[in-house]
Amino acid sequence: MACSSKDSGEAIVNNKIPNLIIALLTACFSFSLAAQPNSSAWFGLQLPAGIGDPHAASVDVSSANPIAAAIPRGEEGFTQLQGDTLFAYVGEIVQFSRQSRADGNRVWGRVTGFESARRTIDWTAQQFRDAGLVNIEVQDYASNGEMWWANDWQVTLLADDAFGPGSRNIVLESSLPTGDSFIEQDSIIATVIDTGHIDAAIPDIDINGKIAVQRLNPLTGAYSERTATRERAQQLMALGAVAVINVVEQLGNMHTRDFSRCNGPCFNIGTADGEFLLDAVKRAQQAGLEQELQLQLSLDASNLTGLSGQNVLGIVPGVNGLQGENIVVNAHVDGWYDAAGDNADGLAVLVAMARHFAQHPPQRTIIFVGSGGHHSSGLNGPSNLVRMNPQLLGSTILVLNLEHIAQLEIDSSDWSVGPKEQPMSFSITNAAPFLTTLTHAAMARYGFNLNPQFRTSAPGDLGGYRSLGLPMIQAIHSGPLYHASGDVLETISVPGLERAARFYTYFIDQIAMADKALIDP
Ligand SMILES: [Zn+2]
Repeated sequence: MACSSKDSGEAIVNNKIPNLIIALLTACFSFSLAAQPNSSAWFGLQLPAGIGDPHAASVDVSSANPIAAAIPRGEEGFTQLQGDTLFAYVGEIVQFSRQSRADGNRVWGRVTGFESARRTIDWTAQQFRDAGLVNIEVQDYASNGEMWWANDWQVTLLADDAFGPGSRNIVLESSLPTGDSFIEQDSIIATVIDTGHIDAAIPDIDINGKIAVQRLNPLTGAYSERTATRERAQQLMALGAVAVINVVEQLGNMHTRDFSRCNGPCFNIGTADGEFLLDAVKRAQQAGLEQELQLQLSLDASNLTGLSGQNVLGIVPGVNGLQGENIVVNAHVDGWYDAAGDNADGLAVLVAMARHFAQHPPQRTIIFVGSGGHHSSGLNGPSNLVRMNPQLLGSTILVLNLEHIAQLEIDSSDWSVGPKEQPMSFSITNAAPFLTTLTHAAMARYGFNLNPQFRTSAPGDLGGYRSLGLPMIQAIHSGPLYHASGDVLETISVPGLERAARFYTYFIDQIAMADKALIDP
């Protein structure tokens, strides 16, 4: 793009032809040589490569070889729980996200309130029917609030002849507005200023009227940097910034769908775009051109109302039928981008277990729930499920949630891939000794990669079930690809899926036959 004839035409105005030819040669064939500043486009910097194929893994998973799942004696016939079967479900679920991108959604995924999540719910209902579950229901519920939504936007670094001949505007393709951002006018154009890392104090520089850039390194995913990023962005806005750019330093050029309420227009950009932007700021400073380095931001966003979400339920009756107590097993169906690890893996395990238990009836009844609205404000699935099903849930003794349970172990310090899965936190909200002992036994039996210290807090999708006052269980991790477009199919561990499915099947089977007094002492 730096080598088009239009560039030559523009450049001729300001340059003598021999210089121009040298400059173009430099720009087109030797970015890496980074000759004299301003003698080639964009100070001689290598231009960002764009977004590429966002369904391909950013992490190099080619050498990943997770250890095989343990199959205890007597479980050889549990064919529904095999890794390949589970991985095929993950692929089908991820396809609903890919379809949403193919349909033209810039924020793609399986998003409750939109067709993509509805399709995933219907697929889950069909899986329940195929498995032979009873009382299968898709329950619609209405939004009880607004949901911020971005239809379209652009973040463009504006070229100036002073940056070198052939410099053209650069669209930062990884950009994504953060929640609650709005731009009322056609666009904002302002000078860019680097304010450093979110862990560092804001430097004593004039931020007023500028677009402030801050960097973050979310080693365990955006989740871990949520508060620090938002609070510092709010400070930058209070100092007069007209917008804030969060450079999410990970790898590749991923979109990150996270952060909100920065009190002004804010955008996340990926690693490669961020590197280019910050290098350009530095070069402009060195050349005394810092005022000339400007971004143009445009954004078409609105608060949507009147949306609806869906939960899907299906029941495997216990050996004595539908009378008596039951266990709820939940997995959220929705997710940002391909969302293979958040939460196609959990939903795949849910579907596989529904099929398994339909063939191997448990002592107590199991209610399987594919829940909506984990990521859509005003549309929380579990809280609507609790509200809409008081009779059904009145006889529930425990809720178990399947969420983020089979992603490859990715070390974000060097982006290497380990031999197992992401280590998960395990929650037993009532810390019942029976449940604790059972978990340790099941961990040893299947090699499920849980942190040995269990928690009583329950983040993730269990929040909506809290009002039931029941014991709740879940394994969950927040890995480096959390809410990033790099959360793709290839990052899922096939043996990890099987480990999770076998662990939970055994765990649920044991709970289904245990005394209630042990489960909820
Ligand atoms: Zn999740």
